[in-house]
Amino acid sequence: MAEFPLYGPPKVGGDILAYCSKCQGEFSHVVVSMIDKKPARVQCKMCKGNHNFKRIGDTKTRSISRTSSPSAAPRKQTLLVQDYWQQLMDLQKGKPLKPYSPKQAYLKQDVINHNTFGVGIVEEVRIDKKIVVIFKAGEKVLVHSLG
Ligand SMILES: [Zn+2]
Repeated sequence: MAEFPLYGPPKVGGDILAYCSKCQGEFSHVVVSMIDKKPARVQCKMCKGNHNFKRIGDTKTRSISRTSSPSAAPRKQTLLVQDYWQQLMDLQKGKPLKPYSPKQAYLKQDVINHNTFGVGIVEEVRIDKKIVVIFKAGEKVLVHSLG
C-alpha cells in the first residue's frame, strides 16, 4: 500500500491525504464515498469542502496553466497604451498631421504620421535629437531634426 503511506488503506469515514483546490495543497481529508476501493468524494478538514478525491499529481497541468497566467499582463499594458493614445488623440483633435521624417524637427504634442506605426503624439522631446512618441501600438523612440 505504498500509495497511501500515511493513512493506510482508505475507507469511508477514514482519513486520507488529498489535494484541495480551495486550500491549494494536499491536506488531511475524510473519505466520504468510495468507488472500487478508491476514494471518490472526500471532505477537506481545513475548509470542510466536499470535492472529488484528487492527488497533487492530478492537478499538475492545471497549476502550470495557472502560473503561466502572467502572460495576461502585457496584454493589459497594450490596452492601457491604447487608452492613453486615444486620450492624447482626443486632446490634439484638429491638429494637422505631420508626416514623420528623421530630418524634420518636432515639438512636444505634435501629431505625426509614421509609415510603419501610424499616427502618434510626441510626448517628449529629448536633447539627443530623439523624440518619444505614443503610438496606438505603444511607445517608440524616434530620431528627429537630423536635417
Ligand atoms: Zn480545503
